[in-house]
Amino acid sequence: MSYYEHLRRRHLSRAMVLAPHLIDQLDWPADRLATHRVERLRELVTVAINSSPWHRERLAGVDPAGLDLATLRQIEPMTKTELMEHFDGIVTDPRLSLEMVNGYLGAVTTGDYLLDGYTAITSGGSSGERAVFVYDWDGWATLWVMLFRYLLRTKLTDPELASRPVVMAWVMAAHFTHATAAMARTFSGPQFSNHRFPVTLPTEDIVAGLNAVQPDFLVAYSSALHVLSFEAAAGRLRIAPRRVLSAAEPLLPEIRAAAEAAWGVPVGNTWGTSEGGGNGIACDRGRTHLSEDLLIVEPVDARGRPVVPGEPSAKVYLTNLYNHALPLIRYEITDEVTVLPEPCPCGSAMPCIGDIQGRIDEVFEYSGRQIHPHVFRSVFGRHAGIVEYQVRQTPAGTHIIVRCHTPVDLDTIRRELEETLSGLGLQRPQISVEAVERIKRDNGPAKLKRFVPLDRATPHQPRETTSPVTIA
Ligand SMILES: [Zn+2]
Repeated sequence: MSYYEHLRRRHLSRAMVLAPHLIDQLDWPADRLATHRVERLRELVTVAINSSPWHRERLAGVDPAGLDLATLRQIEPMTKTELMEHFDGIVTDPRLSLEMVNGYLGAVTTGDYLLDGYTAITSGGSSGERAVFVYDWDGWATLWVMLFRYLLRTKLTDPELASRPVVMAWVMAAHFTHATAAMARTFSGPQFSNHRFPVTLPTEDIVAGLNAVQPDFLVAYSSALHVLSFEAAAGRLRIAPRRVLSAAEPLLPEIRAAAEAAWGVPVGNTWGTSEGGGNGIACDRGRTHLSEDLLIVEPVDARGRPVVPGEPSAKVYLTNLYNHALPLIRYEITDEVTVLPEPCPCGSAMPCIGDIQGRIDEVFEYSGRQIHPHVFRSVFGRHAGIVEYQVRQTPAGTHIIVRCHTPVDLDTIRRELEETLSGLGLQRPQISVEAVERIKRDNGPAKLKRFVPLDRATPHQPRETTSPVTIA
């Protein structure tokens, strides 16, 4: 057995030790939850002050012992830009650094831990801005359990499933630098047979694979779920999952309806982020609950003022209570969230949220062949210098503009994408990659539209919209 495999199995065992507690917490009454959150918040802030130089300065004057959910609001929020700029001062283990994490992410292909215990992941995020995150041993195990604890509870309590391995299919990220792929790799074992189908595969291959493994649980990007619902309706995809979860992209009402019609089970919507894991997870009724025992999510308006239940937020401030490697305390995420005022019939005291609004990255189509945006995202995630990007479809390929903070080998990106697209059946794809100082937003400073399909692509005019710079 390889050293990695040895560590990984220990990690899975640790997750299974944590699982009963985290499942139990789903049913805690509100007052017990509230006490627990304040305790965990004080622990987190104590660790941050003691071990993170950046937080020590930022939190000067904050007394962890006096902190609660009200006084937390007096702490200035932190942003993704700050996280990336001050990464080395934010991590609580001085051996960790952004350079090391980027090196690991650029090379990880099979399986590895950072310093024998940390897991690092990258995220393009919904804003298109690249960031990296590092989880400690228990943090990574907690992240997996928190995301799937309703499924784990079903597995542990359903007489049929308890007696055999549960088959879980993931139609998700291709590369191990992404949370979903990394998780499916770490937490696979005799009781959990994880089958990964990179969303970058041709649809017919995903369908054939799912037909072969017959998953009990299906987890997929919302856009992939849409395609698979059509495949099921057409009779090509023949599976009967007990639970279907969408993740990583907004679950649009028509996609939920198509998937529920295809399999006759409620589709649960996960609000997952690389920063918090399962910020919102779906209960057995298919409604999404905030993971209040592990996170503090503050929905706020554009100016950072709290919004009341029933009102959509402009963004949220997230405090991750369980991962001490990289303390995120009031970390800004630009997701629009509506906390619902009414409780869920399932009885959980953790509040429900409405479906996260937003935009799904567009799938490009070339002569009937669909290319998922993740094909591109996966390549960009491996190049540490990229800050943000936009991919514009052209008749025979794409034109890509990137903004970089350190030199990036544009030719390598071009070659990697040409090879990938050729592998997916495109004849001689033509890719151009251009580095610019600024990528123009179509709607002011809001989120960047990262993928522009051909029918909506306007001719790119570098002189008017962007200023090309030379990057080696
Ligand atoms: Zn519920």
